[in-house]
Amino acid sequence: MKIVVTGAAGFIGSHLCEELLDHGHEVFGVDDLSTGRMENLEKATRKEGFSFANLKASDLTEPRWKGGIEGAKLVYHLAAHIGVGHVSKRETVAAYLSEHAADSVLLAKWCKANGAAYVLASTSEVYGNNPCLVRENEWLHVGPSDSARAAYSVVKLFAEHAMLTYGPEASCAVRFYNVAGPRQRGLDGGGVLAKFCEQAANRMAITVYRIGNGYTEDGTGERAFTDVRDAAAALRVIGERLGKTAFMVLPYDSGINMYQQQMPRIVNLGGVGNGITMLRLAEKVASAAREVGIETVVTVIEDAGDADNLIGAMKRREAADNANLIAYGVDQSKWGGIDGIVERTLWYWLSEVKQRETR
Ligand code: UDP
Repeated sequence: MKIVVTGAAGFIGSHLCEELLDHGHEVFGVDDLSTGRMENLEKATRKEGFSFANLKASDLTEPRWKGGIEGAKLVYHLAAHIGVGHVSKRETVAAYLSEHAADSVLLAKWCKANGAAYVLASTSEVYGNNPCLVRENEWLHVGPSDSARAAYSVVKLFAEHAMLTYGPEASCAVRFYNVAGPRQRGLDGGGVLAKFCEQAANRMAITVYRIGNGYTEDGTGERAFTDVRDAAAALRVIGERLGKTAFMVLPYDSGINMYQQQMPRIVNLGGVGNGITMLRLAEKVASAAREVGIETVVTVIEDAGDADNLIGAMKRREAADNANLIAYGVDQSKWGGIDGIVERTLWYWLSEVKQRETR
């Protein structure tokens, strides 16, 4: 099947392209390379059936680029200024608000008009800053307009609404929970594990924020991580099955366990009940670094920023009688659990830092 992936040169996008190509699909990837990198596509470009254009998602439907998207049976919309750290800067919020909001309407409409299925990358951040356990049929706890961080979740929520309003019946928004692994950006506004690994690879102190909210034994945040390959496999399976049947069962070999068997429009994708505190995560990174002869210190910093009341682990959510929402628990033991994710992410950063030094 012909598939379009926006944000193809990004962290999840590049792994998704490989996953789709490995399963025999033809993939047209687009990325404006604002945060994505061609290096991420080295493996994908060597595979049969892959083509790429340096394009903004909004240009995809322009007449001169039509050849790229025409005939696509499925569009994955992953292009976005990703990561809370990145989007929380005021200067990136403006671009994020206008571009991502507009693209999400444009692509949802294009898919509906052209009989294509549509998968939108969303985020667990949409649950907002909520100290309580969240039931899925409750209203969300979004932030105030003067919070740059809140803009990230508000735009993703908007994109979900755009999908449900303008998109085809065969569409699904996937809310990711702390996807991690090689190619994720680190100190430059990326995820915490990548940041810790980049710090370690550079022999810098690993910075752990103490939130002190009493949720965890050591006062630091808790997150459940999802291996990027599981995230890519889940995206592929969801996309392949959209619009085919009202009911679906995910194959267990995809590393994904199913909690409901009804076709969802919104999916939560993450590890269930296997969270780790940020202090323990930092210690794991430090100890993996020590094994390759790098000594780093773990520094705990009192965090003056956002209170960390986010629903960072799926265990903070509670299922409700709502067929629209579903949770996929990712089997983390498949790839060696959190230790495996830490090891691969650190290896990536060790080689990345080495390459940067020789450039
Ligand atoms: N965090 C940390 N040190 C850092 C960056 C982040 O301890 O240098 C913590 C942060 O307070 C949060 C967790 O790591 O508890 C996850 O942060 P991230 O930005 O990766 O993702 P999100 O908050 O969106 O889950």
